Amino acid sequence: MATIANGTFTLIWPDGDRHKTFKIKTQKADSKFMPGKRLISLMTGRDNESDYTTFGEATDSGLNIWHSVLNGTSKNAYVMNDGKLPIWLQVLWDIATNGDQSRYFQKGMRLEASETCIVCNRKLTNPESIRTKVGPECAARRRIGGGHFLPQI
Ligand SMILES: [Zn+2]
Repeated sequence: MATIANGTFTLIWPDGDRHKTFKIKTQKADSKFMPGKRLISLMTGRDNESDYTTFGEATDSGLNIWHSVLNGTSKNAYVMNDGKLPIWLQVLWDIATNGDQSRYFQKGMRLEASETCIVCNRKLTNPESIRTKVGPECAARRRIGGGHFLPQI
């Protein structure tokens, strides 16, 4: 059965820079709102731990946008991004379920699970940070620090 795991995923455009980050998470069993359901959200702020806007549900058959978001009555409806959200989800789902056989993958789209910074262990969702496994702050500190402590090899 094709599905996608819980986690944080970054969809990356062929230029390797443009991206959108999504999170899929199961609601706690005692949650008042949709207990036990797997909710999907879009990263809509700067903090990749907390700045997400929830808009729908992940099921075994697909990623569904709530009607209130689709028809604009939800306060979260801005995540539709002028109608682009359904297309992004289609690409996300297609790459997650078909891997390198996905027609979007073959056109250069990529889907990366989040990584953690090898220096400070914070979550990384930016394409460049995922590639280098180091977050921007730690990368800047490294540049200042140099690497002069490395022995000759
Ligand atoms: Zn770091």
